[in-house]
Amino acid sequence: MLLAKGIAMLEITAIIMGKPTTIHPTLIWDHDHQILIDTAHPGQLPLLQEAAAQEGVLLEHITDIVLTHQDIDHIGGLPAVIEQANHAPRVWSSDIEKPYIEGRKRLIKITDEALASLDLMFPPETPAAFRAAFRKMLEHPPHANVTAQLLGGDKLDACGGITVINTPGHTPGHISLYHHSSQILIAGDALTAENGKLAAPTPAATLDYEMALHSLKALVDYPTQHVICYHGGLCSGQLNEQIARISAGAVV
Ligand SMILES: [Zn+2]
Repeated sequence: MLLAKGIAMLEITAIIMGKPTTIHPTLIWDHDHQILIDTAHPGQLPLLQEAAAQEGVLLEHITDIVLTHQDIDHIGGLPAVIEQANHAPRVWSSDIEKPYIEGRKRLIKITDEALASLDLMFPPETPAAFRAAFRKMLEHPPHANVTAQLLGGDKLDACGGITVINTPGHTPGHISLYHHSSQILIAGDALTAENGKLAAPTPAATLDYEMALHSLKALVDYPTQHVICYHGGLCSGQLNEQIARISAGAVV
């Protein structure tokens, strides 16, 4: 969905763990840059290519990949996106997330407990071979090198300016991004949305919930026309006010 000149929210839907699951990577581009923010689940490259093509962007022309954080639904497509690119894209993340994305540390949410309870999450008819392969994938997820570091407050000089905002909580090094020319905030998993309404992050998926709420205060300073939530999609309206209320712990 094209939201403004040079920025589109993609929509990728597939059955994950027996349930239809939709995620929303973002594409931002200008004459010299084509930037993909988050790379979908492992195995979703064709869906990502198709979604990009619908916006008139060929994924093989990608110049930059920005990862908001290390979770598998955000980094799963990273090696495949790099592989299909005509020229090796820059890969950006925060320094804290880098060793996880590069496969040097086990993903922070893939604990022994999480792996032990994995079996309960599959639909009962899931074949044993699939369960074993899925578990192996989580223990050794797709990984690739991060080639450039993003610090909170950095402003990328591409596409009219994109500011990096530190939003730790969901993971320790989670970042959100603000696209200046469209006044669109790419929240990653710092916020969620349901039916166009902005909502607090999901406690069960959030490593440090207090910190995640506190981090939202940093988003309020940016005049925002739309928020793209990776889970939940697009929100529009009185967003700065809503973010402030969510950050204060109010149910909105
Ligand atoms: Zn996510």
